Amino acid sequence: MKITIIAGARPNFIKIAPIIKAIEKQQSGGKAISYRLVHTGQHYDKNLSDTFFEELNIPHPNANLEVKSGSQAEQTGAIMVAFEKELLQNPCDLVLVVGDVNSTMACAIVAKKMNIKVAHVEAGIRSGDMTMPEEINRIVTDSITDYFFTTSTSASENLLKNGISSANVHFVGNVMIDTLHQNLNRISAPSFWKDFGLETGNYVILTLHRPSNVDEEQSLITLLEGIDKMVGDKKIIFPIHPRTKAILGETNLDLKNIIFVEPQGYLNFMYLIKNSFAVITDSGGISEETTVLGIPCFTMRTTTERPETIEIGTNNLVGISIENLTLEFTKFLENGLSKRGIPELWDGKASERIVAILLSK
Ligand code: UDP
Repeated sequence: MKITIIAGARPNFIKIAPIIKAIEKQQSGGKAISYRLVHTGQHYDKNLSDTFFEELNIPHPNANLEVKSGSQAEQTGAIMVAFEKELLQNPCDLVLVVGDVNSTMACAIVAKKMNIKVAHVEAGIRSGDMTMPEEINRIVTDSITDYFFTTSTSASENLLKNGISSANVHFVGNVMIDTLHQNLNRISAPSFWKDFGLETGNYVILTLHRPSNVDEEQSLITLLEGIDKMVGDKKIIFPIHPRTKAILGETNLDLKNIIFVEPQGYLNFMYLIKNSFAVITDSGGISEETTVLGIPCFTMRTTTERPETIEIGTNNLVGISIENLTLEFTKFLENGLSKRGIPELWDGKASERIVAILLSK
């Protein structure tokens, strides 16, 4: 079986790393399976792309479509045009896409129109929020996927409700957590750890990049000033996403606790998360990692496609207002964490399950 694996953005790189390892393990065991890795170039900054390939030992991509930035339509269209050429030159039996970025949807459409089977890893999750580009990418991708790999039983149920045959829905666990398991003993403190006087539990991690939080400059500033006041004497490390940085531009902010740093490589970032007091974020992936590490997480969104992180994990969906974040954070300071648990099958073996299932097709 010849598989073309698609990766375009930071969370994709983290998800494909263990899948590639699992394929290589089967190859070395003599199984007839091979892969070609296609980077669409959706994320191209060194610290959002190359660093992850280096740190997670992901092989150099066989092709880079180099689509770079653009509007939703420009980027999706550019990926489709480039990936069609790539597939014509390098035919395969199956295209494997992960997550919910534009590359996921664009490459799934191209493959399906060329009558090539599509496998979607992290299928079936739904926020119900159609203003999120990711939700549209999820729904379109799942409408043309052949093999669905899910992270939770609720994701599987979403697919079954939509009429997908249960024979094609495989609850396998979470590949992002495979990467976490495979690298926990390699994580390390960033070079600024001592300079900023960081110690386990004396700082909060903040990440924000979703349009609902960062696209309006004044609301973003209000949010940052509110968070700065809210945390008392804790420092706040804020690895700033290029999108957020572009909105803030050269604005001078009067912040006492927030320390801006570059987007972190995976190994430094997971060290920072694992040793933090709490995390404030609008990322989906980070709420999964904090769940597994038992770190309190405040998700600045009104919906989530990952309900298990709230039902059994440490995630708290707090909406996008500073008032509500402050209310929930204060409750946590008074009462501590109310629960902690690891979702079913988030055990580090999802990629092995996926590859075993693909080999049986
Ligand atoms: N991440 C990282 N460095 C950072 C910020 C995030 O390594 O400075 C990792 C994080 O551990 C998580 C992933 O990137 O696994 C999530 O990426 P992002 O928030 O961009 O995507 P989302 O989860 O929102 O789709």
